[in-house]
Amino acid sequence: MRIILASNNKDKLREAREILEPMGIEVISQAEAGCRFEAEENGSTFTENARIKARAAVEATGQICVADDSGLEVNAMGGGPGVYSSRFCGERGYPETCREIMEIVEKRGNGDRGARFVSAVVCVFPDGREIDCLGTVEGTIGRVYEGEHGFGYDPIFVPEGHTRSMACMTDDEKNAISHRGRAFREFARKLGDYLEQERTKEK
Ligand code: IMP
Repeated sequence: MRIILASNNKDKLREAREILEPMGIEVISQAEAGCRFEAEENGSTFTENARIKARAAVEATGQICVADDSGLEVNAMGGGPGVYSSRFCGERGYPETCREIMEIVEKRGNGDRGARFVSAVVCVFPDGREIDCLGTVEGTIGRVYEGEHGFGYDPIFVPEGHTRSMACMTDDEKNAISHRGRAFREFARKLGDYLEQERTKEK
């Protein structure tokens, strides 16, 4: 089975492939499917934004498309940057943005370093039906910026039960516990059930 990932983010594409391909789901990027656009992410939740991206890609390709919308929620920032995680970084780059978050947590957190990564995965079929999934990983904002794996805010996110940041993990270690790993594995299960129901209907 082949699906299009409605994203131009090469890190998400790599992780989606690592997670889904061992389950027999081939993932191609929207660029590989001949589609070069950025849907406007004006939703107020991760799920709304994932739906906007997946629906736009289905309209453009007529094929099954899946999108991940994700971000970091920090308690000391009232749950922000949340759906604005990518825009909060903007052009200045992640090392500087991560340092700003560490500072905010020190100054305004009152000792609360709590944070979580969230990933909403929405798959849309050409007939308009959809599968929605949500994955989260709880953790804390670390006191140091560390590690060279992963991307984005990984160097300052220490998952619960761990002592070092997510950027210190190998791809396989991250995918086993990450928000995206959880959401995409839920998606693979639900897609299996959906295909099974379709086969039963045909009999
Ligand atoms: P999106 O493309 O609008 O979903 O933006 C997601 C943003 O959230 C990314 O650009 C990163 O800033 C952040 N993010 C999401 N997932 C991760 C992750 O696994 N590690 C680090 N940062 C992430």
